[in-house]
Amino acid sequence: MAWHVRGVVLPDDEERDLWLVGDRVTFEPVAGAETIADGGWILPGLVDAHCHIGIVRGGAPVGSLEQARELAIVDRDAGVLAIRDAGSPYPYPELDDDPDLPRLARAGRHIAPPRRYLRDIGVEVPAAEVAATVAAQARAGNGWVKLVGDWIDRGVGDLAPAWDAATMTAAVEAAHRAGVRAAVHTFSEEAVAIMVRAGVDSVEHGTGLGLDLVDEMARRGTALVPTMINIQTFGRIADQAREKFPGYADHMLALRDGFPDVVRAAYEAGVPIYVGTDAGGGIDHGLAADEMLLLHERAGMSPPDVLAAASWGGRAWLGFGGLTEGGPADLVVYPEDPRRDLRVVRAPSRVVLRGRPLR
Ligand SMILES: [Zn+2]
Repeated sequence: MAWHVRGVVLPDDEERDLWLVGDRVTFEPVAGAETIADGGWILPGLVDAHCHIGIVRGGAPVGSLEQARELAIVDRDAGVLAIRDAGSPYPYPELDDDPDLPRLARAGRHIAPPRRYLRDIGVEVPAAEVAATVAAQARAGNGWVKLVGDWIDRGVGDLAPAWDAATMTAAVEAAHRAGVRAAVHTFSEEAVAIMVRAGVDSVEHGTGLGLDLVDEMARRGTALVPTMINIQTFGRIADQAREKFPGYADHMLALRDGFPDVVRAAYEAGVPIYVGTDAGGGIDHGLAADEMLLLHERAGMSPPDVLAAASWGGRAWLGFGGLTEGGPADLVVYPEDPRRDLRVVRAPSRVVLRGRPLR
């Protein structure tokens, strides 16, 4: 079965006809194709560049492949047709080629210091074992590893780096030697400075970024996935911690309050920014549109740049193709121009995954 769609294709901004044959796009007419969209704005499928389909609401690991599938399907139905899973306690390589699921870029398990991260989620290792663990988790994922760069240190009563700079640098080098990219969770000022200088490929959250560091990220091409939805939950985290760790609570609130300006500074400096919801655990799946709107409304990204981050740019960054001759047949259609009013991304009129219309 072949399908035909017609509309303004972004980012080229050209009214075109596309035919979808199996999981491939062609601009050559295909006889007998059924038209499933005529008019509207057509984008390559969206990307959630930071979520977790291996962690259920509440924070426990998923118990089965089927549970992970269900979470990915929530994202898919919102137009997210590619996911980067930023750390999964449950291995699910079987889902990489699942025809019903978004395309997957996966880190293995989070790599964290002992008793310094969410319970049951990461592989917890001392500094001496970090590089070897990175190599092992590189094999468990399919292109990424995830490092926990900082977390609360209960002895200090505040955020503190997971390891020293030499260990962090060796961790990033171990990832690159294994042929994968390294993503790092950071909230604090200290850890993100260490990790950017260690040559990490993407900073997750990055609330502690300063102006000097965003310039360095831009120079190095280090990506930022701000997960603005997650940062809005810092108030809850601070409330829960305040009695025992008041300094930590205040720090988290200050990071939250300064964050829109951090993302704005990164954007203005030219740091590559991508859309990630951090769904899984504390945040629902299916919220990519909310994150896109936050990047626009709170951090000042222009609608075309948000669309690039969420669609063709994010796909290119993760190695998934766009709407080119012979490219993968993942697309979303909106009834209005999302560059004029970004809110239309909340309601795609068509979603086509791997050449199959879903809605
Ligand atoms: Zn996360």
